[in-house]
Amino acid sequence: MRIFESLESQVRGYIRSFPTVFATSKGAILTDENGREYIDFFAGAGTLNYGHNNERITKAMIAYLEGNGVLHGLDMATTAKRNFLEKFSSTILEPRNMDYKIQFTGPTGTNAVESALKLARTIKGRSNVVAFTNGYHGLTMGALAVTGNTFYRDEAHISRSNVSFMPFENYFGDNVDSLACLRKMIEDTSSGLDLPAAVIVETIQAEGGINVASAEWLKGLSDLCREFDILLIIDDIQVGNGRTGSFFSFEFADIKPDIITLSKAIGGGLPMALVLMRPDLDQWKPGEHTGTFRGNNLAFVACTEALSYWDNPALSEAVQYKGARMYEALDAIRNTHPELEANIRGRGMIWGLELPERNLARTVVETCFEKGLVIELAGAEKQVIKLLPPLVIEEDLLKQGLAIIAESIKEVLKKREIL
Ligand code: PMP
Repeated sequence: MRIFESLESQVRGYIRSFPTVFATSKGAILTDENGREYIDFFAGAGTLNYGHNNERITKAMIAYLEGNGVLHGLDMATTAKRNFLEKFSSTILEPRNMDYKIQFTGPTGTNAVESALKLARTIKGRSNVVAFTNGYHGLTMGALAVTGNTFYRDEAHISRSNVSFMPFENYFGDNVDSLACLRKMIEDTSSGLDLPAAVIVETIQAEGGINVASAEWLKGLSDLCREFDILLIIDDIQVGNGRTGSFFSFEFADIKPDIITLSKAIGGGLPMALVLMRPDLDQWKPGEHTGTFRGNNLAFVACTEALSYWDNPALSEAVQYKGARMYEALDAIRNTHPELEANIRGRGMIWGLELPERNLARTVVETCFEKGLVIELAGAEKQVIKLLPPLVIEEDLLKQGLAIIAESIKEVLKKREIL
């Protein structure tokens, strides 16, 4: 580990949570240099929905590389890009009756968010955007401005302006109607809220602590946006790509966002990001928003192969099935330890176990790691244990991982009793 400590910047993060040197990975297993295996309940923060080194995806990429397929082509036309566009259209958009244009941005989530915000502001000729408490949308300037957590929002990072934060669903508990609050602020010409160009929202705030929006709330938000000529941007970077069971996380709410951002698992494990926009919103001038690494061709190949998981309902059904097993395991933990006052939130295969007691969740995930489980925290106070395994994880491994969480909690509580 010495070279990381001496040479790599202090900014390094996950290496601190998972202090070992990983060498290989397959499916839902990470193996370190000493041959120790870890079950992965982190999945690259939602990038590895199809697992590490997915056999089908790897094969397709090797064939493309061996055939000298174009790797870097800016946004020129390539066969890999055409194949991707055709597959995305026939497998994802057409069956859902979704009419959207696709923009390829620089290959990270924050790039897609920057583009979406820039486009919305340009179209509406308004600078303000509404974002929600506990939202996370990336850390470049525009995306940071719509991200709530003070840990990232240092005054020295300058402009974080032209954004109004409003309460997410249940921010004040379930007796305050956060949508009514937003409506009032928009309608009241003296509220101080400038009419926004757009509202940007995650259907499940993943980094923010697995805060789950209901279908009713999302529908209400969508209707409100229509009523006041505000664009609705759904940031589906972490919980899209099948995480909740359907390809897009908002399908259950029966809404049609104006703009959608996608990244993480869309690249089948490789860097890639997209903005989907209603065709009439595609008001970019040619080359107006560029980036050298738009159109990562190897990612197109990986993604095209990954999308074949959506040719039939098997993956979607598996997510519902495994998600239910995850909930059951967390519910059992809650029932075994009522004194912890644990909360469980989630949908599909993203679940959060909130342990309100300060630092308890952190101690538990550290113990999980010692027992061979890679799992991270979420929420403003890092009080939520976030379960995010690859969607393709074998049921047996899933159960083993869930058992490690239960054992770790038991162990942490027992140690505390002894002390
Ligand atoms: N939006 C959401 C919802 C995210 O979860 C993330 C990453 N955690 C981002 C945007 C930013 O993506 P990236 O880290 O690739 O810039």
